[in-house]
Amino acid sequence: MKTEVVLKVKSTFVKKYKAGYPLIQKQSINNLHELKKEGVLVKLVDDHGSFIGKGYYGKQNKGYGWVLTQNENEKIDPSFFEKKLKTALNKRKAFFNDQETTAFRIFNAEGDGVGGLTIDYFDGYYLINWYSEGIYQFKEYVLDSLEKLVDYKGVYQKKRFNTDGQYIEEDDFVAGERGQFPLIVKENKVKFAVYLNEGAMVGFFLDQREVRKTIRDHYAEGKTVLNTFSYTGAFSIFAALGNAAKTTSVDLANRSLAKTIEQFSVNGIDYEAQDIIVEDVFRYFKYAVKKKLSFDMVILDPPSFARSKKYTFSASKDYKQLLKEAISITNEQGVIVASTNCATFDMQKFKGFIDAAFKESNLQYNILEEYSLPDDFRTMKQFKEGNYLKVAFIKVRSRR
Ligand code: SAH
Repeated sequence: MKTEVVLKVKSTFVKKYKAGYPLIQKQSINNLHELKKEGVLVKLVDDHGSFIGKGYYGKQNKGYGWVLTQNENEKIDPSFFEKKLKTALNKRKAFFNDQETTAFRIFNAEGDGVGGLTIDYFDGYYLINWYSEGIYQFKEYVLDSLEKLVDYKGVYQKKRFNTDGQYIEEDDFVAGERGQFPLIVKENKVKFAVYLNEGAMVGFFLDQREVRKTIRDHYAEGKTVLNTFSYTGAFSIFAALGNAAKTTSVDLANRSLAKTIEQFSVNGIDYEAQDIIVEDVFRYFKYAVKKKLSFDMVILDPPSFARSKKYTFSASKDYKQLLKEAISITNEQGVIVASTNCATFDMQKFKGFIDAAFKESNLQYNILEEYSLPDDFRTMKQFKEGNYLKVAFIKVRSRR
């Protein structure tokens, strides 16, 4: 069994960990230097040496590991992982029973009791994300549990613990049989081509499921839709299937063109009737203003941080400006879908950006609806940062 290192929690942080905070942070531990090998079990104690919690050491961008239990008698062993996985699977019964959706998350890290580990389901295949070398040391436990609890076709993995938390490029196949890619999965009846063995990204982000459905079912009909930071075009596909007059997808990455064409095509949509543009979104806004283009719906889903040749975008600093640019090319009575996965600010602050952007644009607005993570992305109330997704549907009203 792995040896246990005793970590002394600084007195000012004791209360927080006793309340169930799961992330082991640098600033909260007195003797971090005693941690040597990732994957060792750790025991957190207070100033008097009394027990707070148990977990593992694993370095990722967020911290130095995760607390797994506050019960001193609970062992972190194979049956611990099996129990967590079983509970998580039981909570996804509705998803497994839903014939219209075959891609969802079955294990969401600390929200399901094990920080640093996520598992997604893609029509019989399971994709494990390991966020540190430390959690990867528990690989056999996780694989054995999966094998016991589900009938999988195959298992793939992404090791996301190169320097800077980057993905390690290698063959990602782990167990079962290899898949034929693209694997065609469904999301609310819409088809999606996914690739489980082609680098870090599989082709779409499961956490926007409800937003995509809402756009298709309640907003797209007859509308011109601009989808910025479009990646493989997921929002555009749903808008087109909701009978949008036309979609325009803009992404800087060269690969986005072929990927977006593929996603339209697997759904039987003529991609030539849509615009797919490979360009910097900020340049595109300037172009659109110059050409007097405007749209009924503008979707903004930027990465939290991105650097292109000419611009650097950081959601926490630049979202207001991004909104102002979007506002300038949105029709009156149009809708802006503003989304961010940036964990460093909450919905309230996000609404502050929205308010400031509209004030400075001299326009009135109202927020029609809001979304956060869907049910399969379980979160814990003691770890607010884990509840990262914020989406607002904003109606652009008349001039002030
Ligand atoms: N909205 C997408 C996911 C976006 S991922 C979806 O729902 O599937 C972020 C995307 O932003 C990436 O594809 C990246 O290539 C793109 N990107 C980053 N900076 C950009 C910029 N300045 N202009 C255009 N696209 C950018």
